[in-house]
Amino acid sequence: MDYIKLHKQYKANSLFGRYITLVDIEPLLEKLPKEIIGKSVLGKPIYKYTIGTGQTRIFMWSQMHGNESTTTKALFDFFNCIHSNDAIGAKLLQEFTFCFLPMVNPDGAELYTRENANSVDLNRDSVDLSQPESQLLHQIFTEFKPDFCYNLHDQRTIFGAGDSGNAATVSFLAPSYNENREVNKVRTRAMNVIVAMNYELQKHIPNQVGRFDDGFNINCIGDTFMSLGVPTILFEAGHYQNDYYREFSRKMIFIALLSGLRSIYENDIVDNKIAIYLQIPQNKIVFYDFIYKNVKINYDGKEIISNFAAQYKEELVDGKIQFNAYIAEIGELKGKLGHIQFNAHKMMYFDEKAAFPKINQKADFNIGKDNYFVNGLKK
Ligand SMILES: [Zn+2]
Repeated sequence: MDYIKLHKQYKANSLFGRYITLVDIEPLLEKLPKEIIGKSVLGKPIYKYTIGTGQTRIFMWSQMHGNESTTTKALFDFFNCIHSNDAIGAKLLQEFTFCFLPMVNPDGAELYTRENANSVDLNRDSVDLSQPESQLLHQIFTEFKPDFCYNLHDQRTIFGAGDSGNAATVSFLAPSYNENREVNKVRTRAMNVIVAMNYELQKHIPNQVGRFDDGFNINCIGDTFMSLGVPTILFEAGHYQNDYYREFSRKMIFIALLSGLRSIYENDIVDNKIAIYLQIPQNKIVFYDFIYKNVKINYDGKEIISNFAAQYKEELVDGKIQFNAYIAEIGELKGKLGHIQFNAHKMMYFDEKAAFPKINQKADFNIGKDNYFVNGLKK
């Protein structure tokens, strides 16, 4: 199957970039038989969309972390695909009944925060159920009785796929259901789907797929649903070379969705693929957005050669997300990599105020006479 071609064909082009709110998705939901299941803390609607006549019931939700919008984009691409007259659309609707919550945390989406409007991380609220958004998610889980749950997220640019030196462009997890991280039938089913998705993704992003740590935390929604006996898969859309708008990783999520579902209906997940699952490298925090190496800095009148790193903060300013780079670490930076790296070859650092970088200062500086950096990037 030519997934790349399919994505091109069905991409929801009106959704672009990182700042995706209800305002962006409501015009697209307009055309779909959706329902409002309840309201967020600030009174925004939370939508549910159910479709399909198949036996296998799939529950997917995205953006429970408000600033994690990539999988929402991929979901709308997927909606276009299942509505198409393509054989694949018809097949999916015949095999599956889908229930989607395409934006669990609309307040956080608008505020561009991980948390909801009460500053609660909804993915740590699955026992307390203190927030209306978490309650709704649980309510739909209970009513819909899924065979599989897809918990759709974004991860930061800091993650690498094991020791590959590559960014983890997509990561997965089959969460634990107990402290001992045992593997039961339920968890195996989730692992098997991940193995199928990883197999397809390796063709597009070799060595750029990671596996998340499976430490048990019952407050996380995936761990809770697993402990309730439903295979749950955590998806994390991550960084790809220069893809800060996450349009490429959106495509990879779309491919993962289709290839994983295909493995389910082709019954390719009966075998036990735990060992193959465990071969997917574990995510490691190794990346900064920028690393500057072998920089001469003059610290208190003493010249030394050092390295420093800068990292973007995503800041919402006048309704737009700005990527603002700040100095994040200075020193040896052992084992750290930069999505962009610059070798200063012992040239001198200076900025408007000092001859050494300072943590949390904006990444605007010079290295040597001819290298002027603005917002982390060489001009
Ligand atoms: Zn998340």
